[in-house]
Order: sequence, then structure tokens, then C-alpha cells
Amino acid sequence: MKNICVFCGSSWGNRKEYEAAATAISRQIARRGYGLVYGGSSAGLMGACADAALAEGGKVIGILPHSLKEKEIDHRGLTELHLVDSMHERKSLMEQLSDGFISLPGGIGTMDELFEMWTWGMLGWHDKPSALFNVDGYYDDLVRFLDRTASDAFLRQAHRDMLIVETDMDRLFERMEAYEAPKVGKWIPKDGDAI
Ligand code: AMP
Repeated sequence: MKNICVFCGSSWGNRKEYEAAATAISRQIARRGYGLVYGGSSAGLMGACADAALAEGGKVIGILPHSLKEKEIDHRGLTELHLVDSMHERKSLMEQLSDGFISLPGGIGTMDELFEMWTWGMLGWHDKPSALFNVDGYYDDLVRFLDRTASDAFLRQAHRDMLIVETDMDRLFERMEAYEAPKVGKWIPKDGDAI
């Protein structure tokens, strides 16, 4: 892996653990020699990620739609800032420039990005790992629900298992570095072979 993309809230959330996790993971990305790709904003946890990686001497690439430049406030100190025309272009460029994706606590923008990268991987459009850093149990209910999508045969277990869910940061990086994409088709027949 060369670059790792981080998805996270453009807000701070209301627990100090969220900012601490955003800072720690971005610092770790830089220390491990990876570039950080992210949404280009200086707001909330997004800004905290960029600041932490830059402070560690890391390379930070931001990708922001023109229409959000004022609202999300573009970060002025990045190594590179790409201004694009749409959210679709943003996600597409994030995918092209990154070798893996980590989602931290965030709102529906974060979830949209997590699911888009994961589904592209499931469809075989890329073979890059997606990881969820489950800080302070923030994603516990979502993880439970995702297990149900597999047990109710809407998602193959192999595709459920593609999403790395970790509370331990070092383990999260180890699993991303060792990741191998599954080689099974997406669709599940009616009599279900998913369980
Ligand atoms: P949030 O988690 O809602 O604070 O959003 C985090 C980031 O996701 C922000 O930079 C949002 O602009 C971005 N975002 C929101 N909606 C989308 C979307 N549909 N596609 C891609 N990024 C989005």
C-alpha cells in the first residue's frame, strides 16, 4: 500500500475519543510511510486527520468538490488539493489514488463513502481493503446489522468478512496489509448458499 484513504466526520462528534482516534490513526499512517488521502476539508475530524499527518511530516492529498469549498472549508496546508466537480468524481478519485480505506466515526457522508468503496470491492472493481475503526463502540449497532445482512442471505459471508472491523489500531493496519480480496461472485441463489 502507498496511500490510505480515511473517511470520517466533517463534525467532531461529542466524545473526546473520536478526535483522539482521528489524530492517532493519521499519525500512524504518516509514521508507516503512507500518504493520507481524504476529503480535503479543515472541518471536524477531517481537519484533525490532515493536521496530525502533516505534523508527522506525512503527505496529505485532499479531494473536495468546488461546491463544498466554502461549506467544508478547504484545508490550506495540504501537500495536494484536488478540486473536483461532483461527489461522484470525488469518490472516484479517492479510489484511484488510494490502496485501502479506513472509516472512523462520522455521519452519513462517512457511511456513504464506506459503503461505496466496499461495494466496489465486492463487485470486483478493485481489490483494496476497507476497514472500520470502531472507536468507543460507535459502530457496534451497524456491525450487528451487517452480520444480519449475511445471515439473512443478502450478502455472502465472504463479502461480509471483507470489511475489517477493529478496535485495535495496530491490528487494523496488520489486517489491511495482509488483505486478500475474496474471489466469489456477488449473487446468491434462491436456495441460498451464503450461510
Ligand atoms: P459526514 O460524515 O456526514 O460529516 O461527511 C463526511 C464527508 O463525507 C464530508 O466531506 C462530506 O462532504 C462527505 N460526503 C457527504 N455525502 C457524500 C456523498 N454522497 N458522497 C461522497 N462524500 C460525501
